[in-house]
Amino acid sequence: MQENKCLGGLDYFKLIAALFVIAIHTSPFASVNGDADFIFTRIIARMAVPFFLMTTGYFLLPQYIFDKSQNLKPLKKFIKKTLILYAVAIIIYFPINIYAGHFYGASMFDIVRMFIFDGTFYHLWYLPAVITGMILVLIMSRKLSFKIIFFISVVLYFIALFGDSYYGFISSNTILNSIYSVIFDISSYTRNGFFYVPVFLVLGAGINKKYKFENINVSILGFIVSIIIMIIEGFILNLLNVQKHDSMYIALLPCVFFLFQLALNINMHSVKTLRRISMVIYIIHPMVIIFLRGVAKFVHIEKIFIDNSIVHYISVCFLSCTFAVTMEMFFGKRQNNKFQRERAWIEISRENLHKNVYVLRNLIPRECSLMPAIKANGYGHGAVLIAKELNRMGIKAFCCASVSEGVELRRKGVKGKILILGYTHPKQFYLLKKYHLTQTVIDNYYARILNDYGRKIKVHIKIDTGMHRLGERPENDVLNIFKFKFLIVTGIYTHLCDAENKTFSKKQIETFYSTVEKIKKQGYSCGKVHLLSSYGLIQYSKFAGNYARVGIALYGVLSSRSHLDNCCIELYPILTLKARVAQVKLLYAGESAGYDLKYTTEQDRKIAVLTIGYADGIPRELSCGNGRVLVNGKTAPIIGLICMDMILADVTDVPNVKSGDIATIIGKDGDEEITVYELSEASGTITNELLSRLGSRLNRIM
Ligand SMILES: *Cc1c(COP(=O)(O)O)cnc(C)c1O
Repeated sequence: MQENKCLGGLDYFKLIAALFVIAIHTSPFASVNGDADFIFTRIIARMAVPFFLMTTGYFLLPQYIFDKSQNLKPLKKFIKKTLILYAVAIIIYFPINIYAGHFYGASMFDIVRMFIFDGTFYHLWYLPAVITGMILVLIMSRKLSFKIIFFISVVLYFIALFGDSYYGFISSNTILNSIYSVIFDISSYTRNGFFYVPVFLVLGAGINKKYKFENINVSILGFIVSIIIMIIEGFILNLLNVQKHDSMYIALLPCVFFLFQLALNINMHSVKTLRRISMVIYIIHPMVIIFLRGVAKFVHIEKIFIDNSIVHYISVCFLSCTFAVTMEMFFGKRQNNKFQRERAWIEISRENLHKNVYVLRNLIPRECSLMPAIKANGYGHGAVLIAKELNRMGIKAFCCASVSEGVELRRKGVKGKILILGYTHPKQFYLLKKYHLTQTVIDNYYARILNDYGRKIKVHIKIDTGMHRLGERPENDVLNIFKFKFLIVTGIYTHLCDAENKTFSKKQIETFYSTVEKIKKQGYSCGKVHLLSSYGLIQYSKFAGNYARVGIALYGVLSSRSHLDNCCIELYPILTLKARVAQVKLLYAGESAGYDLKYTTEQDRKIAVLTIGYADGIPRELSCGNGRVLVNGKTAPIIGLICMDMILADVTDVPNVKSGDIATIIGKDGDEEITVYELSEASGTITNELLSRLGSRLNRIM
């Protein structure tokens, strides 16, 4: 599945950060102007590493700091990945270590110190440091709140500061000086996993959960002000000659804080490739520097490529990028495209999804928002794929059927409220808490059970206004549910069951709103009020309340074609279903095909075997000519019985069909189209059922 977060800004900034790191190691303006070079490489470029760290913290730490998650798997995975990268990097640089005599005469202590703190090559300190920092923050997160962890991290950073840019202020104090010399015995710099790394990790996590600015102007202003302060700070420290090293400034903290906000505000699709490329550039650029020097010396072009610092910098950047991109082409792609369009798959039209959201948003009153129903794997479309795209469009509430669906969404990073519409077993109540899910209270009896769990849970109360499925009857004591100590009522809702039936629906709507009024009169807050699903919204949008729980319409269809006529809005189907032609063969007159030999031909025919079957959700009712597929823009009837994994289609009238071609089961191919209505009619069901049964074996691609 494709990865789609609106966090592309982070990826692009990471690439810039990698180029900044190269600048630190090549001093691009050294041959032009010493001060300019100092400002750029020793001050501005110092934002690069914190930015890397903040992204790591942003993605990995909130679950531990804020949710106190016990699941260490993601962290372990990260550490393992980083260790592997470190091991590879150590091996790559080992020959140079030997050549340069780095290990010569080193004691065991030196070696350990090199591996854990300094890195075996000058830039590699980052890898052990990020691991150390992560572990340190994790340990703190077990007992301490975010604010305290942040405070400790800032203190550590300030300790580091006085061993770095502010060293001159303490070096004359004998006590402090001896304390710092102990630190320097263990680690060459205070810029390490203990002192320097935690604050940036924690800052990243904090921005994710609490301190993200919606207003981009604040970030721009904050960034400009703090970068100016940082430049002045760095310049003065340099003038005062107090810097032992120059990687830390006080203003660096606000600087990267605002920079990160800016990067988050850039709403672009994330590019995993870019992330890997940045990392490869980071690891490989010192090698490129050595290589370039060697070659330049060998062919006597040092004047241009080495002595001119700008050309030198650009060459190193260019070669490092080229190397990283080449690596990505050879190793990255295969990984990425593993299983996408090889067998049978669903393509989702982002454009049409956006159109539907737009159409539905136009329908709802101002105080109402969409709360898309993404149960049953998003009606077969891929719940995570859809929810994340909707997240990007600013949709902040979802509903799904079961707690397991809610957990899946959360685990894959879906943001916003998630309401569980169905019954949750008491054994799973802890998941509601852990993943911040809102549970439906279906009646007084269930309210008591949920309350007995003994921890605060957010709930929406469901009122049964006539469907007689889930919900408490309005004439019963609904108010009682508000009195439970551990239930935080954040909403109340009902469900219409026959939207076409105006009299009945009006009665349901009336009953619902009068119940809400009664509760309010007693001084309780109902929170969000909602009652409309797709059909309800289309017909009774002015009664929408605060949420519209749109399902089927969001996916661009109605339950059946006949409903299209009464519908006042235009919807755009977003799903296309395709499969490969595995084999094409001739079937001679008189021969039969498929299970039970249900199909027999009187003439010679050309048939195609398609790689999709009823296990993928193709109804078996479409067998034996009841259904058709499109191949190369032409209709091909389904013949014989549909198998679990394969379908036979008659492609006699399709020219040039061959193994590897693509067949369309739902969607357009050339001038022809098979709609989901056609399929659901042929199989005697509604679109909802057909779509939601599309199997888990299908890949879903946006
Ligand atoms: C499934 C469901 C919806 C969405 O229904 P559509 O008709 O697909 O829009 C809304 N509310 C509840 C309670 C549901 O179960």
